[in-house]
Amino acid sequence: MKELYDLNPQQREAALYTEGPLLILAGAGSGKTSTMTHRIAYLITEKGVSPYNILAVTFTNKAAGEMRDRVEALIGGGVGMWILTFHAACLRVLRKHAGLLGYEKDFVVYDPTDQKAAMKNIVKEMNLDDKRYTPAYFLSVISDCKEKALDPKQYLETYGEDHKTKIIYQAYTAYEKLLKKNNAMDFDDLLLNAVKVFEKDEAALLEYQERFRYIMVDEYQDTNQIQYTFVKMLAERHSNICVVGDDDQCIYQWRGADIRNILEFENDFKDAKVVKLEQNYRSTANILSAAHSVIANNRSRKAKKLWTSKEKGNKLAYYRADNERDEARYVAQEIDRLKTTDRRYSDFAILYRTNAQSRTFEEALSAREIPYRVLGGLRYYDRKEVKDIISYMRLVQNPADDLALMRIINEPKRGIGAKTVEKLQTLAEVRDISLFEALLDDAVVSSLPAKASKGIRQMTGVIQSYSREQENFKVSDIYEGILDKTGYRKALEEQNTLEAEGRLENLMEFKSVIYDYEKGDMDLALPDFMERIALLAEVDNHDENENAVVLMTMHSAKGLEFPFVFLPGMEDGLFPGWRAFEREEGLEEERRLCYVGMTRAKERLWLTSANVRTLFGKTELTRESQFLRELDKHLVDGDAIIEKKRSSRSAPSLDGYAGEKPFNPFDSLKYVKEQANDLLERNIPMEDFEPGDHVKHPKFGIGMVVKVGEQIIEVAFRDGSYKKLAIGIAPLTRYIKE
Ligand code: ATP
Ligand code: MG
Repeated sequence: MKELYDLNPQQREAALYTEGPLLILAGAGSGKTSTMTHRIAYLITEKGVSPYNILAVTFTNKAAGEMRDRVEALIGGGVGMWILTFHAACLRVLRKHAGLLGYEKDFVVYDPTDQKAAMKNIVKEMNLDDKRYTPAYFLSVISDCKEKALDPKQYLETYGEDHKTKIIYQAYTAYEKLLKKNNAMDFDDLLLNAVKVFEKDEAALLEYQERFRYIMVDEYQDTNQIQYTFVKMLAERHSNICVVGDDDQCIYQWRGADIRNILEFENDFKDAKVVKLEQNYRSTANILSAAHSVIANNRSRKAKKLWTSKEKGNKLAYYRADNERDEARYVAQEIDRLKTTDRRYSDFAILYRTNAQSRTFEEALSAREIPYRVLGGLRYYDRKEVKDIISYMRLVQNPADDLALMRIINEPKRGIGAKTVEKLQTLAEVRDISLFEALLDDAVVSSLPAKASKGIRQMTGVIQSYSREQENFKVSDIYEGILDKTGYRKALEEQNTLEAEGRLENLMEFKSVIYDYEKGDMDLALPDFMERIALLAEVDNHDENENAVVLMTMHSAKGLEFPFVFLPGMEDGLFPGWRAFEREEGLEEERRLCYVGMTRAKERLWLTSANVRTLFGKTELTRESQFLRELDKHLVDGDAIIEKKRSSRSAPSLDGYAGEKPFNPFDSLKYVKEQANDLLERNIPMEDFEPGDHVKHPKFGIGMVVKVGEQIIEVAFRDGSYKKLAIGIAPLTRYIKE
């Protein structure tokens, strides 16, 4: 096994330490996953352990697949070995033993869609107000319960017997009953039931304890309570358990991950050996130190520091863009600049905080014809809600667009099923009219159930009125009108789930798209807008051979590495997200995410932020991220930019603010207003304005200069409006600090 000699002494020590509990605690890129794969190979080839006796678990299918490949590359095969995700491992146990819990062996696994359908029936049967108690709401509470191993009764006991808890209890009970009746388990059940099998049947537990003499868990810092129990029970007999993790990379507490699992491993398994890996093989010294300077601000962590024998490498680059389009343009330009012949596009990754940020990058990359892939999420224009709203707008433009109508006829839900749609289609065909016309026939609509007919009338009414009057409305007004008057927005708001929130954010983001176009063309008409959108929406940038720039969230990038990494949106309120400011732990989790993001980079790392950002339909001044302020400035090129902006009169966000209470950028316009009270008004000739300057306009109030052209100056005002004004004519005055 030649590769083993490539390991450093600590890695080697860990790989060769096969008997007894072992904790490999190490920072990012120190070869934790590599050590684990070598350890598996060593067990098999040198110690003669059968692959059958090995269990290795991790979190994502991608990670499990990669680990399997690496092991197979080392030993050339590996039949019988379980290298799986937690869910897959539990499923295998249950396929054999679910009978113990009263399931048939061929039980089905409910995916989220099935779960929703099941819960919907229950809500209906319980005669509940489905606005207040949405299926998604119940399901998210139930999932929380299952993660904590609370059955309905225990839930009720734990959370008291008020009205709401009782209702949840009833829904939870009914849901469990329904699943059982259908011989079904949901994803949470897989983990929970596997543990139940072990608790209930000693023989079954013994079978797996004996089989899995060697157990390994990657990314142990992200295990939740049930996963922890699963592993602990299996390891109890032979205690050959090796867990690998980094407390600095725990980024799933919001999903129940318990960082204590790793911090207390030494208490859980007596005589555990701890190996710390301190050499980082992934990143240059500068990248590593920079990541360290940020994570060092977390209080609850095991102190550790990585070193590297790699050269310092380039400094980090920081770019403070004028706005989010400028940010994306810069990133695309940098990729173009560095994509030389010996580099692939797939060497570049853009890792953002929220999926909604992908849109501007997709557009900027398309503009330069750079291939890209959006991972773990859809391309912006492929997202359901975006397609829905585009369909509505297409209908306003042309009510006879049957395809568009089919898409939204039951969005939001109007109680129109597939059968009804089919009937309507037949009718339209027979009469040779469009589907929309069919829906205008009162006799037809009246024959539908009350809810459906009401919904249809409302929808056709909205589309018709905007269709007739489209010349009199701005595109953004039509857009807003559709969202409100069709009930689309409200339906999402009432779901009250993270998923719905994400969809709402994407819809708000669509408003930014419209604003962008309206900024460029004051008289933008609907057909022009639709034409431009159609082009964008249809560009198929998917590159099958994967030589494409990778776009994904920092969460999904865990465990991966890329030569060149961009972390955009380094602004308070976006990253760290404003919710993080509510609790210290929240901020620490975001900081760990920042550490994960930074340590994905092997050679070069860019951080960017935008002075003014239009996201979720709002244009706001931003403040540079707290994490930027924590960063060791000596390691950053472009620091001069921060300094310049900080000391100059144009600094919108930093003066006198550092170190104070975290700042919510969604209040940033309020902030400008507050600051304005301290500012001294002076008249300065128009030509002097620079982006970033504070200005006042008698009608629009206080704002900030975003762009200065030859004749036009663009200003974001604190009331959220964005204006293009004529230089030398518009009565703008400057605010500067004394
Ligand atoms: P993460 O915390 O991000 O999961 P990790 O600790 O699991 O990282 P790996 O992905 O295993 O780290 O390794 C990081 C990089 O370092 C990989 O490219 C790997 O090939 C390389 N590497 C690991 N150990 C060595 C070594 N001893 N010599 C040379 N390269 C190494
Ligand atoms: Mg790893």
